Amino acid sequence: MTRIRFMALEKSMDRQEKEVHFPSLKISDYYGSMTFNQTVMKEFLTEEAFSAVMRSIEKGERIDRKVANQVASAMKAWALNKGVTHYTHWFHPLTGETAEKHDAFINPVSSGRAIEGFQGSQLVQQEPDASSFPSGGIRSTFEARGYTAWDPTSPAFILDKTLCIPTIFVSYTGESLDYKTPLLKSVATLDDAATNICKYFNPEVNKVFTTLGWEQEYFLVDEALFMARPDMVLTGKTVFGHASAKDQQLSDHYFGTINSRAKAFMQELEIESHKLGIPLKTRHNEVAPSQFECAPVYEEVNVAVDHNQLLMHLLEKVARHHNFRVLLHEKPYAGINGSGKHNNWSLATDTGINLLSPGKTPEDNFRFVTFLSVILKGIYTYEELLRASIASEGNDLRLGANEAPPAIISAFLGKEITATLNEIEKMPGRKPLNGHNGKNVITDIPKIPEILLDNTDRNRTSPFAFTGNKFEFRAVGSSANTAKPMFVLNTIVAEQMNLFKEEVDILIKSGLKKEDAIFNVVRSYIKDSKPIRFEGNSYSQEWVDEAARRGLSNNRSTPDALPAFVSKSSIELFEKHNVLNRIELEARYDIKLEKYAKKIQIEGRVLGDLAINHIVPTAIHYQNRLIENVKGLKAVFDEKSFLKVSGNQLNTIRDISDHISSIIELVEAMTEARKKANAFESNYEKARLYHDEVMPFFNTIRKHIDKLELLVDDELWPLPKYRELLFIK
Ligand code: ADP
Ligand code: MG
Repeated sequence: MTRIRFMALEKSMDRQEKEVHFPSLKISDYYGSMTFNQTVMKEFLTEEAFSAVMRSIEKGERIDRKVANQVASAMKAWALNKGVTHYTHWFHPLTGETAEKHDAFINPVSSGRAIEGFQGSQLVQQEPDASSFPSGGIRSTFEARGYTAWDPTSPAFILDKTLCIPTIFVSYTGESLDYKTPLLKSVATLDDAATNICKYFNPEVNKVFTTLGWEQEYFLVDEALFMARPDMVLTGKTVFGHASAKDQQLSDHYFGTINSRAKAFMQELEIESHKLGIPLKTRHNEVAPSQFECAPVYEEVNVAVDHNQLLMHLLEKVARHHNFRVLLHEKPYAGINGSGKHNNWSLATDTGINLLSPGKTPEDNFRFVTFLSVILKGIYTYEELLRASIASEGNDLRLGANEAPPAIISAFLGKEITATLNEIEKMPGRKPLNGHNGKNVITDIPKIPEILLDNTDRNRTSPFAFTGNKFEFRAVGSSANTAKPMFVLNTIVAEQMNLFKEEVDILIKSGLKKEDAIFNVVRSYIKDSKPIRFEGNSYSQEWVDEAARRGLSNNRSTPDALPAFVSKSSIELFEKHNVLNRIELEARYDIKLEKYAKKIQIEGRVLGDLAINHIVPTAIHYQNRLIENVKGLKAVFDEKSFLKVSGNQLNTIRDISDHISSIIELVEAMTEARKKANAFESNYEKARLYHDEVMPFFNTIRKHIDKLELLVDDELWPLPKYRELLFIK
């Protein structure tokens, strides 16, 4: 075994489970202790300042300078008490990660000493140099300034002795350069639109919140083994590796107990998360070996997105304490399940109603069916845009790979709700009706039959599944910043709600009763959006064919999917709702394409380097051993016996030669293809070429390498194998 692989394996086998230092308290005692939450604010702020902040959180009112100064000095006092030395604006630039620029609290004073200072102005706004963040050409290089501005709706928190203040990030000229700005705008537009619809049913509703509960999947791998795989270090995934004889076939990981090293990691992750107010609740093994999931209780979407970004950071950080690396890549290992991030999405009113929860009364169900049909219509109209919102090179490998939904967007509702909608569709006019379950549910006004919920009826193959009181958007990738699918979904739904209201109001004006008007539009929406509904197996080829007949898009790759983001209808949609303008959309589109091309480029380089510098020399080395052995056989056997005993080895020598020459040829051809792609100016062309002409080499090259892995003496193989990476001690 090569030294590096041997050392890595030895290290990983020697690991002792790390001890977790449990706070000697109940979770509720330390929960949120590292956040500047409402309780802390109440304690540190005057009543006036506290209500100003609350009005800003709840109604979006501006915070004036006086209040900002008070909040800043309260934050400072609170943070200094906890040993904090620095503060930072914490934001989500378009790299997809989070960014920070730390400043110490100190202000030098004339006596040669310093005092801790932190002003309202420093809380409210900062001017980080934006030039190293992607802007898609929005910002000219001579104007490098960007602004970060405080988002009071997401609590400030302490991480590594630094006070982190969630902010938006915009360019000097006002264009957004982050994920949070469009998310907040989408939340506002959806609030307005949904509140208007609520008023038809519950006039007392004044605000509608978007809620998100994410489920984060990830892999753990031992740090030493990770470090011995340059592909994992550089790309977060393996670019080759023969399947392990056993991986997930027996489902024994999913149903097994959690490995004790992994459990210690999870416990520490939970303690750290709870201190930061991330309401982690669930932890379990996932399908693939060393794959896991964690999920919090759902929250208002802006806070939930911040918490997911923070959690991904904590995963990486805590993993290192336990000598693990966490893999957030959507497809770190070929042939076994990849990782996703289900986005459970719903709408809640300020009066405590979940708008996606079927109610007990016909009136509640009428409201439920109304919201449901509006959402379905919106999803149907903008399915291609929704697909674009989750496009990334990693997610492309997962979608449609028989482990995750395909690249076709469809909605699953379950037997009972489907039956209800089908029934509504057939209803003529205003008549008492029988419920589909035979019960007589006379609903003269809201003509909606009783809705039964079937919790057993869960379709795991659907990308957008109704799960009882929320939709679960399952096609989101594990490494994604969920702000993107969320702001897209919010905007689509807000648009459809506005259109709905317009249609209903026209009918009311023409003399229809309100309930009839709503009912008529709901029924037409149910009819119109039928093609987006699919209850069957979304992994099947039949669905791919059927979806094509229905005219649904099936954009399998990122370069195929992204153009929908900047189509005429998308630009109109986002501009109308003031979420993003044309310039911002085109910039984002360009950044995405550029990132895609670069990622494929890096993967190609890594694969090429490893193939030529690690694999080919190893194969030659082993081949020489065989040749030596054959020579020896020739020396000791007579001609006839020699042919008999050396036949297999001669074949292996030939096979190895064939693989080696194929690898060398293919790597050369791949390099040529990269050159061709790089020659294009436009990021779209580049991404296209990388997808169409560079990526296909990845699989063909890896096939030869994986074959060699089976032929070459295990002792010589330079990189940890799947069977070593996948099973943690
Ligand atoms: P699973 O999908 O694994 O069966 P659950 O149905 O229990 O799991 O819940 C998954 C996620 O859905 C959790 O994060 C939970 O907080 C979230 N969730 C539950 N209700 C809502 C809601 N009204 N809005 C948003 N998310 C929700
Ligand atoms: Mg789920």
